[in-house]
Amino acid sequence: MEIYRAVVARVEPLTATMVRVVLTGGDLSKFASTGVGDEYVRLFFPHGPDRHDLSLPVATETSWETPEGSPTAPMRTYTIRAVRPEVNEIDIDFVLHDHGVAATWAAGTRPGDPLGFNSPTGLYDPPEDVTRQILVADQTGLPAVARLLENTPDHITTRVIVEVPDQASVQPLPAHPRAKVTWAYGGNGHGPSRLADLVTAALPEDSDLTGTYVWTAGETTALRTVRKHFRKTLSLPSSRFKVVGYWSPNADSWTERWEALPADVKAELEALWEDPKDDLEDVTIAYEDRLSGLGL
Ligand SMILES: Cc1cc2nc3c(=O)[nH]c(=O)nc-3n(C[C@H](O)[C@H](O)[C@H](O)COP(=O)(O)OP(=O)(O)OC[C@H]3O[C@@H](n4cnc5c(N)ncnc54)[C@H](O)[C@@H]3O)c2cc1C
Repeated sequence: MEIYRAVVARVEPLTATMVRVVLTGGDLSKFASTGVGDEYVRLFFPHGPDRHDLSLPVATETSWETPEGSPTAPMRTYTIRAVRPEVNEIDIDFVLHDHGVAATWAAGTRPGDPLGFNSPTGLYDPPEDVTRQILVADQTGLPAVARLLENTPDHITTRVIVEVPDQASVQPLPAHPRAKVTWAYGGNGHGPSRLADLVTAALPEDSDLTGTYVWTAGETTALRTVRKHFRKTLSLPSSRFKVVGYWSPNADSWTERWEALPADVKAELEALWEDPKDDLEDVTIAYEDRLSGLGL
């Protein structure tokens, strides 16, 4: 694991609801990309109102730790939209929403502001025989969708479904000879997400998914239904799909609500992950069903 320090080179508005922050300098010349289109990093933000006072954690072999006596840098997860080693730059595209450390920082950042991040991880992992892929995301998954599309070989037929708040949030996606893109409006914290309905309509029960890989990212609770659809209705093996929750509504009170659960309920939920006998996707479905039942 590495921890990198960079500075903002410039800020580029993308749409009414997203902004691109280009990072450069610092340790960026040492940054080792995985090359996977949805690779993400943990960003470390200034802990207080001084935008230049960044207290970075130190890397351990597999993680990081805050040195004793140092302030803890707030941490959030973001996709590396682009890497340009030749000019020592990376791009990160931020959704601007009403509040939150990251969105507030991105809305006000200026050239010269420091930012930290760790080594990247990629999750998109299609089987070798894939001839068709389906990429489904809300706005937070748009940077990954764009980079995945850029990396997709010409022979792979690609269906893209993206939910953005409104038409002003649509942005051009990289051209691909076999890609069809559908934009849907809503969700993204502005209303109920339609991602589950869009996926079910695009992939009904009798779909022929031979040679297909499905990648989905977005609002966590909407994706619970999507995961169940892939696994239970379409009987997809876990190697043929990836469902990644990118953000949760009411995230600020989640931990408090989890902590307020009776001890036996928490223990029962935690036990699902201990020595799981079922496929991890099935365990995740059982876990998420229970969370939904508890209003989490
Ligand atoms: C692997 C991965 C990759 C990601 N890549 C990106 C990316 O490239 N670009 C990107 O913008 N996001 C991305 N995200 C999502 C991002 O990490 C979350 O949206 C994060 O919560 C934002 O932090 P914050 O400090 O702005 O808000 P938080 O402090 O986490 O949350 C504050 C409040 O805002 C709400 N909220 C959080 N995110 C959103 C949102 N997007 N829309 C509406 N309300 C929201 C929360 O429910 C909470 O009530 C990614 C997440 C993951 C797991």
